[in-house]
Amino acid sequence: MLKDSMLVQLGKGMFTTLRALFFEKKVTIQYPEQTRPVARRYRGRHVLNRYENGLEKCIGCSLCAAACPADAIFVESAENTDERRFSPGERYASTYEINMLRCIYCGFCEDACPTEAITLGEIYELSFTDRREAIFTKERLLLPVPTGGEPTPQVTEPGKFTRSVPAMQNPQD
Ligand code: SF4
Ligand code: SF4
Repeated sequence: MLKDSMLVQLGKGMFTTLRALFFEKKVTIQYPEQTRPVARRYRGRHVLNRYENGLEKCIGCSLCAAACPADAIFVESAENTDERRFSPGERYASTYEINMLRCIYCGFCEDACPTEAITLGEIYELSFTDRREAIFTKERLLLPVPTGGEPTPQVTEPGKFTRSVPAMQNPQD
């Protein structure tokens, strides 16, 4: 009697395993070859954005650093010239660093930025083997130059890029 019962239980267990193996939708993926899409509102690692012409959106104003509750951002700015222009307006970020060991992904930096230069993207692969690798410098954060744009610094037409913050558009347009 006991033997029969054990056989039944074993059969049930095997049936559950085989059903999961051959008939149920797989919940595991072959990471890192395959990656799972993130939710639309996911806040991952930051990126520094560029305009279509390749100029950097960051104007080195440090508002993101001031808004950061974790003191994770360090910005140093320098002057643009038309012969050596990184961003529209007077200044650009000559140094931009985020310490990812401090960041709590609150998004305050994104909200504070007047030019939408810093945004929290979809990147979630953030493993380090050294504390220094957790400091994301401007070079690591800046997105590549878009197709048709030019790398920075650029030589620009005098008087063309005097405005640091783009003119506000009517949100109802
Ligand atoms: S997401 Fe929050 S904690 Fe992280 S750098 Fe931005 S403001 Fe600081
Ligand atoms: S990312 Fe935005 S808020 Fe931060 S320094 Fe650059 S322009 Fe200013």
